[in-house]
Amino acid sequence: MNIDYLIVGSGLSALVFAALMAKSGQKVLILEAHEYPGGFGHTFEIAGKYKFNAQLHYVWDCGEGQAVNRILKKLDLDQQVTFEKYDINGFDHMRMPGYSLDIPSDNQVLIHRLGKLFPHHEQQIRRFLSEVQKVRKGLRFLTPPINLLQILQHPNETICAATYLNSTLQDVFDKFQLPLAAQTLLALQWPDFLLPPNQLSFYAWVILFTSYQAGAFYPTRHFEHVINSLVDTIKKHQGELLFNHEVKEFLVENRTIKGVRGINRVTKEFFEFTAANTICNLDPKKAAKMIGIHNFSPQVIKRLNYDYSPSNFVAYCVVKDIDLRDYGFGAWNTFHSEHSNLNMAFKQMYENHDYSQLSFAITTPTLLTNHERDCPEDCQIIEFLTVADYDYFHKLRDSDKKAYRQKKNEIFAQILDVMEKKYVPNFRKYLIFSMTGSPTTNERFCWCPQGNSYGSNLTPRNMGLGRLNHQTSLNNFYFCNASSGYPGFAPTFWTGAMLYQRLANDWFLGI
Ligand SMILES: Cc1cc2nc3c(=O)[nH]c(=O)nc-3n(C[C@H](O)[C@H](O)[C@H](O)COP(=O)(O)OP(=O)(O)OC[C@H]3O[C@@H](n4cnc5c(N)ncnc54)[C@H](O)[C@@H]3O)c2cc1C
Repeated sequence: MNIDYLIVGSGLSALVFAALMAKSGQKVLILEAHEYPGGFGHTFEIAGKYKFNAQLHYVWDCGEGQAVNRILKKLDLDQQVTFEKYDINGFDHMRMPGYSLDIPSDNQVLIHRLGKLFPHHEQQIRRFLSEVQKVRKGLRFLTPPINLLQILQHPNETICAATYLNSTLQDVFDKFQLPLAAQTLLALQWPDFLLPPNQLSFYAWVILFTSYQAGAFYPTRHFEHVINSLVDTIKKHQGELLFNHEVKEFLVENRTIKGVRGINRVTKEFFEFTAANTICNLDPKKAAKMIGIHNFSPQVIKRLNYDYSPSNFVAYCVVKDIDLRDYGFGAWNTFHSEHSNLNMAFKQMYENHDYSQLSFAITTPTLLTNHERDCPEDCQIIEFLTVADYDYFHKLRDSDKKAYRQKKNEIFAQILDVMEKKYVPNFRKYLIFSMTGSPTTNERFCWCPQGNSYGSNLTPRNMGLGRLNHQTSLNNFYFCNASSGYPGFAPTFWTGAMLYQRLANDWFLGI
């Protein structure tokens, strides 16, 4: 078989790249270690009746004319893969002791709401949020590939954005002297990064916050349909996807990647494929180790020297005989913190494994679309997410399985206690199914080193100028993954499409 593009991994950026290449007439073959496609975005089914997406909750850039929509149009999928908008009056509901704030799409409404909560600090809040908008504009011109002309045409925004290159969100909160409670309300979506304000890149926060303000979305027919539509497109254009195919080795000759070797995890048979080009969707650092780091250029070695983003704890749950809409849930996410200081809440949970003052996200996928259900008619799905330390859980699991299970149960019990106290009295009574995932679960099912959540950690160091891109310095070999682009549904769509544009010289999205 003559393969133009051999792709290792079927994460979102790989599927987008493969679908575009296959549609353009190239022969693509994807090798996926897992039994499902989609990587972090895969959907799994339990007991033949409940479906959960492993990680994805809400997404941006999916409106008409936005990047995801334009990529779907190019694939003739835009009519089939559609999205529902979250409530624009409050897509993220922030809840903490003494305060509650619904984040709206309209910035003026947000300023008004915060002004009412913090009347003595309205000016600071207004100045902070206007700086956020300015930085957002500037970042558009600073995001590679850089267009010098655009930078010269918008010097103000570009210089403003550039000054925050090394800033954390906390640095900017401090600069604008925002009161602590306002900081917490604005940063309560921290599980979207799994980093607290004092570690999180200001750029990462600005991009996500403003992008969701511009439109937070959920796929009309759930994430599984998005993934399946991409897979179907690949197959329709003679592409192939082989599951349970774990790549163990890259074939290297004179700094050129010729193909891969690996094992079929079901049949235990070995396989070998060669191809004109190899695309690496698995974690670039892990791939570089498999290949031998000495084969890469000093510049790429430097870029590969990133640290991983923290891992997480997820609880996938089903409730029955209750409508969560009667308890404050709906077409939005809820972010809850028992602690008023997110830096301290994070430290307690991540470093001390103490979840007594929880901060976590609550999502309700069944309330986001009416089209199809991921569970029986009389049930609803609800999911909880917070941070968890990989090393701690890994050691527990290997040394004491009982203690490992106990710790998972303990975190879940803390979540349920908060649910019962603050949201749904007797919540446990309605719970008919629950399953928890730890950092080691993440590693096992999403194949992510150290159970990382977003690839390289979203700190200023990793989000700055030395960020890895598609270039590997090896011949016929390209990175295509969140860590060599940007993490998230829309950003990995963009990462896959950008690589397609470069290699196919078909600039449908523009430069
Ligand atoms: C808890 C959590 C919540 C998130 N929530 C959101 C959200 O709400 N919205 C959003 O936009 N984004 C969210 N994300 C981020 C988003 O899911 C990811 O950034 C994105 O899916 C990553 O895609 P990727 O292309 O980098 O590939 P990955 O998803 O990393 O896929 C890599 C693929 O390679 C395969 N693989 C690995 N090793 C091998 C091997 N040796 N051989 C063969 N195959 C291999 C893996 O099985 C996997 O399928 C979330 C992430 C996490 C962890």
